[in-house]
Amino acid sequence: MNDHYELVILGGGPAGLSAGLYAARARLDHVLIEKGAPGGQVLLTDWVDNYPGFPEGLTGFDLVERMTQHAKRFDLNIELACVTKVDLSNEKRKVLHLEDGGKVTCDTLIICNGARANTLDIPGELEMRGKGVSYCGTCDAPFYRNMHVAVVGGGNTAIQEAEYLTKFASKVTVIHRRDQLRATKIVQEIAFANKRIDFIWNSRITSIEGESGVERLNLIANNGTTSILDVQGVFILIGVTPNNAGLPLDLLKADQWGFIPTDIESRTAVPGVMAAGDICSKDVRQIVNAAGEGAVAVLAAEKYLQGLK
Ligand SMILES: Cc1cc2nc3c(=O)[nH]c(=O)nc-3n(C[C@H](O)[C@H](O)[C@H](O)COP(=O)(O)OP(=O)(O)OC[C@H]3O[C@@H](n4cnc5c(N)ncnc54)[C@H](O)[C@@H]3O)c2cc1C
Repeated sequence: MNDHYELVILGGGPAGLSAGLYAARARLDHVLIEKGAPGGQVLLTDWVDNYPGFPEGLTGFDLVERMTQHAKRFDLNIELACVTKVDLSNEKRKVLHLEDGGKVTCDTLIICNGARANTLDIPGELEMRGKGVSYCGTCDAPFYRNMHVAVVGGGNTAIQEAEYLTKFASKVTVIHRRDQLRATKIVQEIAFANKRIDFIWNSRITSIEGESGVERLNLIANNGTTSILDVQGVFILIGVTPNNAGLPLDLLKADQWGFIPTDIESRTAVPGVMAAGDICSKDVRQIVNAAGEGAVAVLAAEKYLQGLK
């Protein structure tokens, strides 16, 4: 890895790989820094059915492989390293500190660190991931046509996704640990009026069971009563946590949850710093918009670099 680049792309999920493709094609002096295997959350995805250009669908692994190979055809420069701290106090010399003690400076930075779905951390959850345990209704709802599924959560996302799921599932049971939802009133009203949605209040799941896929959930109510719910899928929609460790959240004016606000050109509050993908403050977190934002961010980076000359 060099000491300095015109452009550093931090993170190699769909946003970072798309930014990498655009940066490499634009012949920018660049590096994409990724701490694990490129692909991000897509590597956790069994089957992707909603990325344009693949009418038959494809595995998450295959999609990532294609994205990586595509960018490498234009000489994408990927380095494996973990960035532990980003120093943006000097706009002209942005500094990234690496886990091995090294550092890299750059003129412009695109933050593509992504996010992770919050988990219940209960027996069966990890084993059944992709076999009936899902963290994204928009992504997986069509796989549950005419089935009974559960949704865990009580916020806007959970209840809106429960509503969306009823387009496919025969029945959706919302399991919530409190006696009322956190979702806004209008979202609640729509859900309460939907005959395919029912609610189990004051309860949580203690384990997920099934042979080759989800078959039943073991529940416990706040008063200690236990019960079993037979379902073919469970959507865990209890929030998303941004991968923002080491980022200067004050300078980036992060929102209350730690996501980074951007403008329509993917620019953050810090000049020359763009953000793309799930790390951004937004409602929709999908592969297609992460990739789109990665591309837009490079165009903004190019403009910024031209301004420096
Ligand atoms: C189980 C699951 C299934 C999904 N299914 C679908 C689907 O079918 N269709 C769809 O459109 N969307 C789906 N999504 C959502 C989709 O995966 C995300 O919207 C998308 O991956 C976001 O891309 P990203 O590049 O912003 O971030 P991520 O995919 O989160 O990638 C971020 C990358 O940054 C790296 N990174 C983070 N911090 C550092 C650091 N400090 N140093 C170096 N590297 C770092 C990470 O290792 C990671 O590789 C799914 C999500 C999950 C969890």
